[in-house]
Formats: sequence, structure tokens, C-alpha cells
Amino acid sequence: MAVSISHLGYNKISQMIFEWQAADRTSLMALFIVLEVSLHWFWCLYVWWQQDALNTYVNIHYLYPLWLGISFVGLFFLCMVKGLFHSSNDNDIVLSRWQIALVLVYTAYISTVIVMIGYSSLFAGVSLVGGAMLGMMLIKRRYAWRMFWLHIILMLLAIMSPYFGISLPNLRQLTVIHPMLESHNYLTYNEIMAAENAVAALAFENNVLNWDSISELQRSSAFFWRSTHLYLALPKAIFIVYMFRALLLVLDDSRFETLRHANQDELTQLKNRRYGLKKMKYALATVREYQDLSVMLLDLDWFKQINDNYGHDVGDQVLIEISQTLSQSLTDESIISRYGGEEFLVVMPDTKHDSAMVIAEQLRLNIAEHVMKIEGLADFNVTASFGLYTLTHEERDCIAQGYKTITQQKTVARTSPLIKPIATQRAESKIASMQKLPSDICQRLISIADKALYEAKHRGRNQVVSANEMWAEKEGGKQSLYKSR
Ligand code: GH3
Ligand code: MG
Ligand code: MG
Repeated sequence: MAVSISHLGYNKISQMIFEWQAADRTSLMALFIVLEVSLHWFWCLYVWWQQDALNTYVNIHYLYPLWLGISFVGLFFLCMVKGLFHSSNDNDIVLSRWQIALVLVYTAYISTVIVMIGYSSLFAGVSLVGGAMLGMMLIKRRYAWRMFWLHIILMLLAIMSPYFGISLPNLRQLTVIHPMLESHNYLTYNEIMAAENAVAALAFENNVLNWDSISELQRSSAFFWRSTHLYLALPKAIFIVYMFRALLLVLDDSRFETLRHANQDELTQLKNRRYGLKKMKYALATVREYQDLSVMLLDLDWFKQINDNYGHDVGDQVLIEISQTLSQSLTDESIISRYGGEEFLVVMPDTKHDSAMVIAEQLRLNIAEHVMKIEGLADFNVTASFGLYTLTHEERDCIAQGYKTITQQKTVARTSPLIKPIATQRAESKIASMQKLPSDICQRLISIADKALYEAKHRGRNQVVSANEMWAEKEGGKQSLYKSR
């Protein structure tokens, strides 16, 4: 199983989220935004509190409008959380409007914050990918996809704006003491970049400045701004990875569930007919050279009467209990499947005829002795009839040999030895190594076991009949899988 015990709690939470109503999921998305906005709000609080120390790097004048905007956006999303959470919002149009508002406000908000706090590829990238990922999981994918593109367009416009002479408000600044002016001057982020480039050019061209002075210039604000970007991006990045992991676990889980439903019988929890046959085919293909394989078909006796007398529910309960008896009585190597309504198929790889007869007889006894205790009814027992057939390794070899000869003849007919002798030789050696059984071998084995089962019913039910013995009696020891058809 793909999901281990350690993931159980975590996985359950994720599963729960994906099963929520659309309104609740939108509300959760709004809650995530509130958490992100709170991080920004506390950053503003910190800068305001430390403004004396930080005013060399931060343009405090821009802090107040940003802080105010953050507070309003936080309140907006908080109202959204309250309004949507657990409100049985069945109105699709109203919900769509809420989602569009969420997408637009958030995109405008996050772009503004990124521009004002000083564009960083880490912060912008995480916001872009994280926002789109969360959006796709929690709101309509169409909206999240559009938000993604809107976000990219806004970021591109912000990056391009200085080239068109537009100076966007930015909190990032650096105080430099100009030797000519001998006073403090504030430069914007873009001006700093231009200054840094000019200084670097000077350093290399005229040797006026050296690396130390450039480093000092950068170090004055870099630490603060890089820590800021890390603080803003890291929680969201961790959260994205967490959600992505949850998504993959949910996918693994649902794949496992789908497979389980495709292979298992819903009522008895045994393998279903399709999967039982698939396993049988595999067992036949992998059985070793000297191993026999036994097939057992069993059918409950007078089952219709149980349904008629006690009702369908009691019939179902009987099927469940008989299935449990089957699973408990047989080894893990046996392939047990529900073949039909009250018919079960058991395939026992590497089981000789005599052992298979002992197993079948014991199983018959276990079923017959199992007391059905059903509330409101007198205790009763159920019996079953068994048809058994063992495919010995000798017979298997014979069939494979016969089958090989037919295939070989066809190949030889197709390829003339006179024209292409080498190709024919290759084909022959390939066929010799195949040792294939006919493709309908499973159905043939089951149909032989079914004949024995029919005989068991005919002889009075609640007994095991071996098809091998039936043939031995009828044909004086000669038996063939081909003749049975
Ligand atoms: P026999 O000894 O000849 O096998 O007699 P029988 O009554 O068992 O005969 P038959 O095979 O005709 O009856 C099978 C019945 O099983 C018919 C059907 O209503 C019932 N059945 C099939 N599937 C289910 C099921 O999933 N639940 C219940 N309760 N009954 C089922
Ligand atoms: Mg029956
Ligand atoms: Mg039946």
C-alpha cells in the first residue's frame, strides 16, 4: 500500500479537504491568504517598531499606506472566511462571484506587495507558483489559471515600468553620503541598481573604486532585504511542498482504492471473478516444472431456499460467513475468488490431487459445521458441493507439447525451408523455448471442475467429486483435457 501508517493522520486531513464542499474550500483558500497577509502585517509592525535602526534601508513614508492596505485586505479575506465557512452555499453564481473577487483582490494585492517590498525572484516565484497551486486545488481551476496569467502580466509590467520612466513606489532604499553634497540622500530601488552598475563599471574601468567599497555599499542593506524575502517566501514554500505531498498521497490512495474496487468483490471482500481468473492465469504461467495445480469449484446447496425462507439479507450474511470460512481454512497460496452468485473458485498452485482432495474434504466439513447465528432466527447450517480437478505436470507437458506442434506446423507452412532456411531454424528454436499452454486453458479447467460439481449435486450434494477420478472410472485411466471439450 502506498500510504503508510505514519501518513494516516496527515493523509486523512488531506482527503477530508478534497471532499469538502466548494464553498468550504474557497473559504480555506481565503484562510490561507489571511495567514499570508498576517505575515506581511507583522513584518510592517516590526519595521515600524525598529524604524530608527532601519530607516537607512526602508522608506518609512511608504510603509504606512502599505500597512493600511495590508490591514484592509486582511479584513476582506477574514470576512470571506467567516461568510463562506460552513455556510451551505449551494448558489453557484454567488460562489463564483466570491471566487472571482478572491482571485482579483489577491493577485492585485500580492503584486503590489512584491513591487513595494522590492522585487525578488524568490518571493515572486514562490507567490506565483504557490498561489496557482493552491488555487487549482481549492477553487475553480479556470479562475486559478487566469490568476496565474494575470499575476505574470502584472509582474512583467512592474519590471518593465522603469524603462518607460515610471517609478513605482518602493520601500527599498539606500542612504548614501554624496561627497559633493555632503548630506543624506534617499535613492529608490531602481536608482540604487543604476548606481551599483555605475560604480561597478567605474571600479573595473578606471580603478577608482575597489571591490571592498562595492561590497560595503551592498552589504549595508542586502542582509535586511534578503532576510525579508526569505521570511515572506519560506513559510509559503514549505506549505506548497506540504500540499503537493498531500495531493500525491491522495492520488496514490485513490489509485489504490480504484484498483481494490476493480479486483475485489464488494460483498464478500474476496477477489472477484475477473481478478481470480487473472491470478489463475498467472499461477498457470509460473507453475514449476514438476508441480501440479488443482482447481476447485464449490457451490452452496439449496441457497435459493435460504433467500426465499429468510430473505436476501440473510443470504448475503451467509455468503460473507462462508467466504470467511474459505479464507480461514485455506493457505495464503490458494487463490480464492467469488466466481458467481454463490459459487466460489479456488485455485491451489503446487497441490497434488490427493492433497487437494484432503483440503476439499476438510473445507466441506468446515462449511457444514459452521453454525449460522442470525438474530431472530433459529441457528442453521449450510452445506456446499465441490468439483475438483488436478492438472498434473505430465498432462500439462502433454498439452504444451501438442500445442507447440500445432504452432510449429503453422510456422513451418508459412516459411519455406528452401527459401529461408535460417529464418525457419530461428523460428523453430524460439517455439521450442516457449512451452506455451492454450490461451483458453483456464476456462477448460474450470469447465472440467464444473462437470464434477454437477456430478456432486447429482449424487446428493454436500460432497466432493474429483474429475480426475470420474475419468479414471469412465475411461479406464485415460483422461485428456482436450477430450473433455
Ligand atoms: P443448488 O443446490 O442446486 O445449487 O441449489 P441453489 O438453490 O443454490 O440453486 P441456484 O444456483 O439456482 O441458486 C442460486 C441463488 O443464489 C439464486 C440467487 O438468487 C442467489 N444469489 C445469487 N447471488 C446472490 C447474492 O449476492 N446475495 C444473495 N442473497 N443471493 C444471491
Ligand atoms: Mg447453489
Ligand atoms: Mg449456483
